[in-house]
Amino acid sequence: MTIMMPASDQAVLGRRDAIVAALRAIVPGEGVIDSAAEMVTYESDGLMAYRQPPMVVALPDTTEQVSRVLKYCFEQGIKVVPRGSGTSLSGGALPLADGVLLGLGKFKRIREIDFDNRVVVTEPGVTNLAISQAVAHAGFYYAPDPSSQIACSIGGNVAENSGGVHCLKYGMTTNNVLGCEIVLITGEIIRVGGKSAETSGYDLMGIITGSEGLLGVITEITVRILQKPETARALMVGFAQVEAAGECVARIIGAGIIPGGMEMMDKPAIHAAFPPPRPNGICSGPAARRHFRRSDGSRRIISAWTAPFRAARCHEPWRGSAISPRNTGFASPMYFMPATAICIL
Ligand SMILES: Cc1cc2nc3c(=O)[nH]c(=O)nc-3n(C[C@H](O)[C@H](O)[C@H](O)COP(=O)(O)OP(=O)(O)OC[C@H]3O[C@@H](n4cnc5c(N)ncnc54)[C@H](O)[C@@H]3O)c2cc1C
Repeated sequence: MTIMMPASDQAVLGRRDAIVAALRAIVPGEGVIDSAAEMVTYESDGLMAYRQPPMVVALPDTTEQVSRVLKYCFEQGIKVVPRGSGTSLSGGALPLADGVLLGLGKFKRIREIDFDNRVVVTEPGVTNLAISQAVAHAGFYYAPDPSSQIACSIGGNVAENSGGVHCLKYGMTTNNVLGCEIVLITGEIIRVGGKSAETSGYDLMGIITGSEGLLGVITEITVRILQKPETARALMVGFAQVEAAGECVARIIGAGIIPGGMEMMDKPAIHAAFPPPRPNGICSGPAARRHFRRSDGSRRIISAWTAPFRAARCHEPWRGSAISPRNTGFASPMYFMPATAICIL
């Protein structure tokens, strides 16, 4: 299927040189890119089937510059597409031929780490993972963990309401963002929310989160950070049928147990994640440890609920083959060669 991009506004394209000059006056130095070769970087996002060079790229590094760019574009009738790290898989950051691509990549500072209130105030270009890394020394982390967390920006996470494995227990981005500074298309700068979840009035943060850059450009974000769990355990259970794995997930949740995460893997994913089984049928190794490195909860709770899995390789009524969880490694009996597995983290 092909998508049709909107027809370009020839009147805007005819004024391109003047627009570039006006943007250069707002964002000096190397903050404006207009050569075809240099704009190739920006012509697509994670949805690489579609490519469209923008009319011009602006890379502001202050909120005031963002405000002036948006005000100018609003007054001149020029479209603007904000962009974080460009990892969106939905074409959210795909440029327009007659539009300004507004890159937030220079907003890379964490402005405040406030352990007393358990929040981090950050600029939007900071990567998701960098937030957890910035507070790791004190035993804290930021819970939403999209698989792209090494690259995607926290601004993009808010705009897409991103989630990851941890969101089963801790919610999506919307449940972990407390406030933001956002610049409206008129150039007006407003602040929404703050350091606490209890704010009066409408839940504007709930509207902004997931709005895909359509309501404004986010220039500062306040996120909630959590204390790291006491221990880390992982468990994988194999099943002959996908239905049985689904039933197991429902029973775990129904029993009142919310793991730090649960993921279902099909056979090709199991084989990709694990090294080939050794002759004794046991499969373990660094690849397994890397994949299943996270878990959640206190030692007492985790031991209690993983014990039944450890005790029996074939566990009725789920007909699963239990795989032993360890802090230091991961051993998976592969004699069973499951069609599906669920990984409980
Ligand atoms: C390998 C891979 C794995 C992924 N895994 C996951 C996953 O597990 N979970 C998940 O949810 N997503 C996942 N994604 C998708 C993507 O990483 C997320 O949607 C991420 O939040 C996008 O962030 P970004 O900084 O790259 O945003 P971009 O792609 O640059 O932009 C995404 C959208 O946000 C808007 N935007 C960006 N910054 C701002 C801002 N400061 N203000 C206003 N609007 C803005 C853009 O206009 C666009 O609409 C994955 C992508 C890849 C490539």
